Amino acid sequence: MVNEKMLSLGKTRSCIRELFEYGLKQTAIVGRENVYDYSIGNPSIPAPPEVNRAFLNIIQTVDSLAVHGYTPAPGGMDAREAVAKELSERFNVSIHGANIFFTCGAAPALISVIRALSVENAAIIGVAPFFPEYRPFVENNGAAFVPVPADTRNFQINLPALEARITDHTQAVIINSPNNPSGVIYSRETLEQLAKLLTEKSAEVGHPIYIIADEPYRELAYDGTEVSFIPAIYPNTIVCYSYSKSLSLPGERIGYVCVPDFVEDSENLFAAIAGAARASGHVCAPSLQQRVVAQCAASRPNIDAYDQNRKMLYESLTSYGYECVKPNGAFYMFVKAPGGNAKAFSDMAKERNLLVVPGDDFGCPEYFRISTCVSKDMIKRSLPVFKQIWNDYA
Ligand code: PLP
Repeated sequence: MVNEKMLSLGKTRSCIRELFEYGLKQTAIVGRENVYDYSIGNPSIPAPPEVNRAFLNIIQTVDSLAVHGYTPAPGGMDAREAVAKELSERFNVSIHGANIFFTCGAAPALISVIRALSVENAAIIGVAPFFPEYRPFVENNGAAFVPVPADTRNFQINLPALEARITDHTQAVIINSPNNPSGVIYSRETLEQLAKLLTEKSAEVGHPIYIIADEPYRELAYDGTEVSFIPAIYPNTIVCYSYSKSLSLPGERIGYVCVPDFVEDSENLFAAIAGAARASGHVCAPSLQQRVVAQCAASRPNIDAYDQNRKMLYESLTSYGYECVKPNGAFYMFVKAPGGNAKAFSDMAKERNLLVVPGDDFGCPEYFRISTCVSKDMIKRSLPVFKQIWNDYA
């Protein structure tokens, strides 16, 4: 016998993975040049050269037993301090090594925080459009997932709808900016309004309502758009960071949770996050990667290629008639499906080997997602297909 809930979770195919695997199959049949795969968010620029140099340098110069050995569960203190120092200097806040808990990426960071906050009847809010995994992360780790419908005018936060969903059971609101799937960065004004609302509501319900800031795309911002450091706006913020996208290291599995001292109940919260990680089988994040990110704490990717893709796709698609809020971060665009049904649109596009992800699981069934971390050449080849489909709908 197996656990039914886990069985169903394991058997349900993620729509993104399904499309990606379909793309691989079609490539073998019709040739790479005839498949336009915008399904998956896998970085398409290499890790910065200093990151690869750090890997080599560490392997060559540090004692092998130390490089490959266990570290304490939250990570080596030197690495934690290096990350904390960079955050403190960059955002002019006070963060210490003891506030950092290294994880194997943002996904387990989120799960540990969710588990740590899952008291009886806990509810955790997610703001559409949201990363589809939030729902299984929350629902399988002790809380109810409460989605807030999108503000489709600009994909900022629909604050009245969020307010209406806060109850005595609300423990946290997960936000993700720069956003997957919209590519939108929440403005300082939006975040200040959210902070004001959550401050009032925390007082009303008699316990802190935390923000869980999911930040794998923090470093991917265009046109000089500011990505606000949310703990500086709303102190009760727990940051879940990842190097998967910011340093193009998704397979290396490295990220962290940051619980600054100024977060209410920070000591217990940090301990509960450590306990939740332990209960999930966390031993330590890869020790080689901890050393790499410590050495490269201030490294930033060269995102020119993503920016060029973003511009080319946005300008071309809107010139054909597609509607899209201009993305200024991450590497995604969220486009309104002609006809208003993204699933039908995605199925139709799939017949022409154009793979776009319908927005149902992101909480927006009228929109489809395009990952812009692809080759320029593929974009150029795909544009006539986008245009043809638009004309067929018109
Ligand atoms: N959160 C968001 C919004 C993401 O898009 C992703 C990955 O695509 C993750 C979390 C998980 O990232 P990681 O690879 O660090 O686990």
